[in-house]
Amino acid sequence: MCGIVGYIGKRQACEVLIKGLKRLEYRGYDSAGVAFSGDSFRIYKCKGKVSDLEEQLKDKNINGCMGMGHTRWATHGEPTNNNAHPHQSMNGKFVIIHNGIIENYAKLKSGLEKEGYKFASETDTEVLANLIEYVYLHNQNNGDSLSCVDAVRVALNMVEGAYGLVIMSEDNPEKLIAARKGSPLVIGIGRGEYFIASDATPIIEYTNSVIYLNDDDIAVIGLDGLNLTNLKKVKQIPNIKKIDLKLDEIEKNGFEHYMLKEIYEQPRAIRDTYRGRLNFESKYLKLGGLHNVFSELKEAKRIMIIACGTSWHAGLVGEYLFEEFTRIPTEVEYASEFRYRNPVINKGDLVIAISQSGETADTLAAIQLAKKAGAIVIGICNVVGSSIPRETIAGVYTHAGPEIGVASTKAFTAQVTVLTMMAMAIGQANQGLTEKEFEDLIGELYAIPDKIEKILNTSNHIKDIAEKIKDSTNSLYLGRGYLFPVALEGALKLKEISYIHAEGYPAAEMKHGPIALIDEKMPVIVLATKDHSYDKIVSNIQEVKARKGCIIAIVTEGDTTIKEMADYVIEVPQSDFALAPLLTVVPLQLLSYYIAVYRGCNVDQPRNLAKSVTVE
Ligand code: GLU
Repeated sequence: MCGIVGYIGKRQACEVLIKGLKRLEYRGYDSAGVAFSGDSFRIYKCKGKVSDLEEQLKDKNINGCMGMGHTRWATHGEPTNNNAHPHQSMNGKFVIIHNGIIENYAKLKSGLEKEGYKFASETDTEVLANLIEYVYLHNQNNGDSLSCVDAVRVALNMVEGAYGLVIMSEDNPEKLIAARKGSPLVIGIGRGEYFIASDATPIIEYTNSVIYLNDDDIAVIGLDGLNLTNLKKVKQIPNIKKIDLKLDEIEKNGFEHYMLKEIYEQPRAIRDTYRGRLNFESKYLKLGGLHNVFSELKEAKRIMIIACGTSWHAGLVGEYLFEEFTRIPTEVEYASEFRYRNPVINKGDLVIAISQSGETADTLAAIQLAKKAGAIVIGICNVVGSSIPRETIAGVYTHAGPEIGVASTKAFTAQVTVLTMMAMAIGQANQGLTEKEFEDLIGELYAIPDKIEKILNTSNHIKDIAEKIKDSTNSLYLGRGYLFPVALEGALKLKEISYIHAEGYPAAEMKHGPIALIDEKMPVIVLATKDHSYDKIVSNIQEVKARKGCIIAIVTEGDTTIKEMADYVIEVPQSDFALAPLLTVVPLQLLSYYIAVYRGCNVDQPRNLAKSVTVE
């Protein structure tokens, strides 16, 4: 959440910052701002989108080769002009942009108020700006002169919470200070220029050499180079990495929205995720990222999957896969619950953390807890070099490519693909699967991308159905077995981007409550492909029909039984039932997408949401 960009070099900073903020806007879009250094700070900010800020800057003729910018996802204080970042300290010494939450801001604020500080915003960030300034000036007054970066260091040692920060200072106007704890920051190294950003997307246009800051790192960046230390003032060696991200991967490439592009990218994303790991001809499956822990994995007595949001739904599919293929007891938990209760974690338990961004704050905290308790913690992430892969002992990247649409689509199917491969690899090793079952599954997984392409070719039909139900106010998604998590995911997609209330339920549970909601105005989306509970789901459809509900059924190609009962059917190709989530979720993504478009919603930037949840 929240996008940060900083620049120092020979280009016009304003252009670099605005372009960068647009690339990061998916991380937060309630307000935006920039600051430039020079004889004095020039700060421009406003409520609204980066385009509103751009409008404000149009006639300003801003020159300068150093600056920083921010797109906000408000945590403390409403989206207003005053609460927008950058924030300047009361006496004008420091200007900062911040991603994260200063948890002890209230206590710090009242301390500063006693020292005479006045606040122009309601944010926790302004408290930090003033704290840094207070430390700086207070030491000066006492005759000890503290450098700007040392004042930052002292202040950050007083702070509880999470931050990714860029700071400019009046007394050292040719340097940018970047610091991180909990929230991501990447520094791009060009020829005689440096870029700072929340993720690599604003940087790749200029350079592919980057440094991912670690927690507690503080970097001072100037034209003469970069100096990296930590909160204890110990020098750190920058670890320069090459990133392999192409510009066209983060552009819309002719699609109206990122979400639609990403839905259509799923066949490619799944192929890239299994490429080099799964071989159809030789019936071979190897997950290189798990190599160093694989002997422990197959001996694990218990698997725990921790995740949030859509990744949690992928985790639920994982639970079904692991228990079926490996017979190892598996539990799935929201990372935010796991970290604040007192979970039983035994030494040698396998904990799998799933996160598209690799930066999800709750998941990161849950990982620390599991590591402390002696679990083997591995990650499934999409963003290479992000925090979770660095915090885990092993893991498997999904190769979905950058996901910019706030509603996750291709990341989900890529995560399920990885979980399927993991469960298959462990199942083969611990004999949970017979060799025949394993080989059949390889063929089935291999065929999934082609089958998704077939579903995508029916998008006009799905769009027609979307038009019929676009004005609903409530909807119910039902599924059984592997398709229950898909029902949850379908409902989440609809809520997120169309603002229609939707609930996902195990189909049999409908009788225990939600059936009371059903009437002729209520679309009920039923996942009803052919598997061992097909007859049961047919009965559930009858129950809804008996109450005049409008049935939209996702069925296996050629199904005539349900066609006769349902108001609308969407066909998906036949597959092994364990892999059906990878197919059945696709029409639900398209349905939500088209409904949101018909309702005139901002599909890629739904209200109140933002991508990459780096705050608790
Ligand atoms: N807590 C800060 C605010 O509400 C930063 C939020 C963000 O990460 O965008 O302004």
